[in-house]
Amino acid sequence: MTFKVKIDDELTITEDEFIVIAGPCAVESEEQMDMIGKFLSGLGIKIIRGGAFKPRTDPKSFQGLGIDGLKILKAVKEQYGLKVVSEIMDPRDVEMAYEYIDIYQIGSRNMQNFSLLKEVGKTKKPVLLKRGMSSTLEEWYNASEYIRSEGNENIILCERGIRTFEDYTRNTLDLMSVPIMKSKTGYPVIVDPSHGTGRKELIEPASKAAIAVGADGIMIEVHPYPEEALSDGLQSLNFNDFERVLAEVRQVYNLLRKIN
Ligand code: PEP
Ligand code: MN
Repeated sequence: MTFKVKIDDELTITEDEFIVIAGPCAVESEEQMDMIGKFLSGLGIKIIRGGAFKPRTDPKSFQGLGIDGLKILKAVKEQYGLKVVSEIMDPRDVEMAYEYIDIYQIGSRNMQNFSLLKEVGKTKKPVLLKRGMSSTLEEWYNASEYIRSEGNENIILCERGIRTFEDYTRNTLDLMSVPIMKSKTGYPVIVDPSHGTGRKELIEPASKAAIAVGADGIMIEVHPYPEEALSDGLQSLNFNDFERVLAEVRQVYNLLRKIN
C-alpha cells in the first residue's frame, strides 16, 4: 500500500525513504537542543524529536519545560532546517502548539484520550500516534479512526512496545504489529526501539529487526550526555553510538531494498 504524509510544503513522507526521527526524550535547555540539532542535521536527519510536555509516572519527576520547550524546538528547527515532533498531552494545548511544531505526538498514555484525538484530528498537521502500552491492535486502529473521522488523515503510527510479564526489557516490542497495521490502515508505521526496549544496547538490534519486518522508520532517543539526561537516559544513545547505529541501520535498509 502506498502512503503519503505531508509534513509541510518542504517534506512529504513516502515509502521511498526510511524515516529516522531522533532527539532527546525531553527538551532540557537551549544548549542541549542546539548541540543535538547541529549533530542530527549534520547526519542528514530531517526530523528531530523532543518532549516539552512530559507524561511522567511520578508527579515529582521533571515534567518538561512546557511552552518554553516548544520555543526552543522552534528555534532549533529554524536554525538547522529540521522538522519537529513533540508530544501534546492536553486538548487545550493543541491550538497553542500549532505554530511551534510540525508533527503532534500522541503518547502511549494518551492513545485513548478521545478529546485529544479529536482535537488533533480537526487540524491539518500530521499526527504521530503511539500505541498504548496496554492496547490491542484493534484499539490502536480505533484511536487512529478518531483522528481520521475529524478530517485529518496525515497519520503516522508508532509501535513503542507493550506491557507483558517480561520485565528484563522496559516493554516488549511487538514487531508483528508493523506488517499488520500497515496492511490494516495503509498508514506508515514506525518503531520506537528506545521505549520499546528501555535499554540503549538493544536499540541497534531492535532497529534492524524493525527494518526487516517492513517498518517505515524508527524513532530513537539521543542525548549528548545520556547519564545526565533528565529523563530516559538509560534508553538514549550518545552521539558516537547514534552515528554508529545509524550507519548500521542504513546498511541493513539498503541491503533489504536491493533484495526487493
Ligand atoms: C516519549 O516518546 O518520550 C514517550 C513518552 O513515549 P511513550 O508515550 O511511548 O511512552
Ligand atoms: Mn522518553
